Amino acid sequence: APAVADALSETIERTLVLVKPDGVRRGLSGEILRRVEAKGYTLAAVQLLDATPELLAAHYAEHEGKPFFAPLVDFMLSGPILAVVAEGQGVIPGFRSLAGATDPTAAAPGTIRGDLGRDWGLKVQQNLVHGSDSPESAAREIALWFPGL
Ligand code: GDP
Ligand code: MG
Repeated sequence: APAVADALSETIERTLVLVKPDGVRRGLSGEILRRVEAKGYTLAAVQLLDATPELLAAHYAEHEGKPFFAPLVDFMLSGPILAVVAEGQGVIPGFRSLAGATDPTAAAPGTIRGDLGRDWGLKVQQNLVHGSDSPESAAREIALWFPGL
């Protein structure tokens, strides 16, 4: 049994999914989690929380200095966020694929952003979800949002 568990933990990836404040506000949390689970991913942790400027500065460190950084932080502070650790084989690229392109207007039908999002003409793209973009980002982001995990 330990050998099986070891083999599983080597292949089962984890990613950080955030349902951003627009998704929570619009009542889409359930629909978004439904799509994650329907794909066959497992929810390892779920928490509704209010972000802080410090948490967001760390989470979005790669975007500091870009024109959309301040509006992005304001947007992410505008309401509660549903933070989720999802796991499954290939979940990091797999959830990015479910989410669709960053720009919700350009995102393909069938994706979360393509089906449920559109450009609201605001300073930042309100695109419903975040998903980690690499194993390194996933480990870093899960540690930020779920320090106890
Ligand atoms: P993601 O990984 O697909 O979420 O995209 P990025 O990591 O590149 O950007 C982080 C977030 O910043 C995105 O999800 C959008 O909410 C916002 N954003 C990114 N690029 C732009 C942009 O060019 N213009 C605007 N207005 N917002 C952006
Ligand atoms: Mg990103």
